[in-house]
Amino acid sequence: GDLGREQEGLVIAHFGVQVEVEARQDELAGQIFRCHLRANLPALVTGDQVVWRPGNQGNGVIVAQLPRRTELCRPDSRGQLKPVAANVDRIVIVFAPLPEPHANLIDRYLVAAEHAGIQPLLLLNKADLVTAENQVRLETLLAVYRALDYPLLEVSARQGSGMDELKARLDGHVSVFVGQSGVGKSSLVNSLLPGLDTRVGALSELTGKGTHTTTTARLFHFPGGGELIDSPGIREFSLGHVTRAEIEAGFREFDDLLGRCRFRDCHHEHEPGCALLKALEQGRIHPQRMESYRHILSSLPQTEY
Ligand code: GDP
Ligand code: ZN
Repeated sequence: GDLGREQEGLVIAHFGVQVEVEARQDELAGQIFRCHLRANLPALVTGDQVVWRPGNQGNGVIVAQLPRRTELCRPDSRGQLKPVAANVDRIVIVFAPLPEPHANLIDRYLVAAEHAGIQPLLLLNKADLVTAENQVRLETLLAVYRALDYPLLEVSARQGSGMDELKARLDGHVSVFVGQSGVGKSSLVNSLLPGLDTRVGALSELTGKGTHTTTTARLFHFPGGGELIDSPGIREFSLGHVTRAEIEAGFREFDDLLGRCRFRDCHHEHEPGCALLKALEQGRIHPQRMESYRHILSSLPQTEY
């Protein structure tokens, strides 16, 4: 059919060769179109900014992909890293008093965030479950990240405390929520997107077709500003294939120390003249972070030593 003029749009979902584009400009702004890709275009993912032309009956054609500022990748079934979301600029790392938080896991997310060049926000949910017994342990954990200048927020999705502050922090950003199962990601998202049930089943209903929607990411607008890209897969996002150097680069307190060890290929284990071990001894690197570093390194089978 007849095509309207070229304009910018935002990919809010993708289904194989088709994508859903939200118009960003002029009288069409906010409307959603199901688009085909013009030949020679690379695969697009949710969050991609594109140039497209509207056609008839809510259809359209994508003409060009605009450069991505960031890419969130996950390994596919063959272990190959594939982008799953574009232009995400905030990774909200959710944890809670229960299930008990693992510093290792948080650090793994932080390394992934640093590696992707995406700003992390540490979010302690279920603040209502902080008790006299677990408070000290939690505070010790939080202090480590505070000292590293990571932004940190405490909320309770159940009681609503801290949620206004969270909304304010999400405004102006494209966020993803990650964290271990049971920390309250669904509860948080449901409370931030009132009236929209983002459970897997509901996602399929929303798109009208039950097939191949469960694993694909979708972009939502928070009513108070900011966007969320969400899918079961993205919630499980974690550290993919990284090298030793990339892991080291993911620990921001190592920054000034890397390259200062006596040996160029120092593994920071027992080597004399190791700048990291010295900093550890002097308390400039927290033992828990050093433990995480070693743990991450040892648990990545593909790590290049
Ligand atoms: P997800 O697996 O990370 O998506 O976690 P869910 O959102 O499914 O939440 C897991 C459980 O924690 C559910 O029983 C929620 O009701 C509960 N939960 C979520 N947020 C809070 C909270 O702020 N306080 C308390 N006490 N429970 C919460
Ligand atoms: Zn060293």
